[in-house]
Amino acid sequence: MSNVLALIETSPAGDIAGSATSVIAAAAKLGTPVAVLAVKPGLSAGITAQLGELGAHHVYVAESTQTGTVLAAPQVAALTSAAQAFSPVAVIAANSVESRDAAARFAVRVGAGLLADVVDVAFSADGTPAASHSVFGGAYHVQGAVSTGPAVITLRQGALDERAPAATPEVTTVSLDVEVGNAAVIEQIHPAVADSGRPPLRGASTIVSGGRGLGSKENFVLVEQLADALGGAVGASRAAVDAGYIPQSAQVGQTGITVSPQLYVALGISGAIQHLAGMQTAKTIVAINKDEDAPIFDVADFGIVGDVFTVVPQLIDALKARTN
Ligand code: FAD
Repeated sequence: MSNVLALIETSPAGDIAGSATSVIAAAAKLGTPVAVLAVKPGLSAGITAQLGELGAHHVYVAESTQTGTVLAAPQVAALTSAAQAFSPVAVIAANSVESRDAAARFAVRVGAGLLADVVDVAFSADGTPAASHSVFGGAYHVQGAVSTGPAVITLRQGALDERAPAATPEVTTVSLDVEVGNAAVIEQIHPAVADSGRPPLRGASTIVSGGRGLGSKENFVLVEQLADALGGAVGASRAAVDAGYIPQSAQVGQTGITVSPQLYVALGISGAIQHLAGMQTAKTIVAINKDEDAPIFDVADFGIVGDVFTVVPQLIDALKARTN
């Protein structure tokens, strides 16, 4: 089988990101997964076994003192070096800000084609790697493939709910002297302090979002209560954000975050095309809206025509009764 590189994101402390599972799973769909990571020297201990659990057959550790000091350059250097060693047919990275930056730079460096924000991968009829994109607000699925070089693919977080079979990886560790060039220098890192125990919106498998229909910041607590009952993240429409019910970091949609959870619950959201663009690839969509003609019902798998202030408390009670 052909090799496929899977770019693994790590935190400054060397922990692997949650996106590693789906990135390796996508690589396994196209060939033999080779996990590639750039870390500071000595930070890879323990990571190798975790990546094996996630299905990596090889782990390519590129150690560089510049990792965490400059943006993207260490990851690009790691991919370039691994590509020389493994001649991959494809390279998969998360469609996060960091990884898509590295993926795009790598594609330019090796003259490869980039398939960005894909929701699935497969082989095309001629046996070359291909990727599915969800476009025009999720109204169409299109297939893309590249004609030269390895296919460099960035995978939408949450889109692939698969896990590759565990493997016992061979490990290659190289020391890289990274060409920093014009790369942006990281002067300070301030980790965002999570103000709730909820999962981050990006990559969450369950999301409850609220819209203008909640009516006020105080009422928006209902969205948080349902999210907590389901163990999910909290999202919002732009109208809810603009009205000050919740910070912009929770906005789902064209000018917010694109999500692809297993379950998306929309409360008091009409379903404008700009909102659908950010959530329409969710596996199951549940909508609660008092207007039976609201466009959100066109994409919902389950719809409840009703008042959120009547329906949602009952839903929360029912969920609590099931867990007690
Ligand atoms: P509304 O459209 O006002 O809908 C509120 C809904 O709540 C209605 O359907 C109503 O029936 C229902 N409702 C009211 N009260 C209740 C109740 N008690 N119980 C149940 N249902 C109730 N929007 C985004 O979300 N994300 C984006 O990223 C985004 N980007 C945009 C980019 C551009 C360039 C533009 C022009 C717009 C963008 N928008 C975006 C805005 C978008 O067009 C809509 O205005 C917005 O999504 C509407 O939010 P909403 O559904 O919460 O509000």
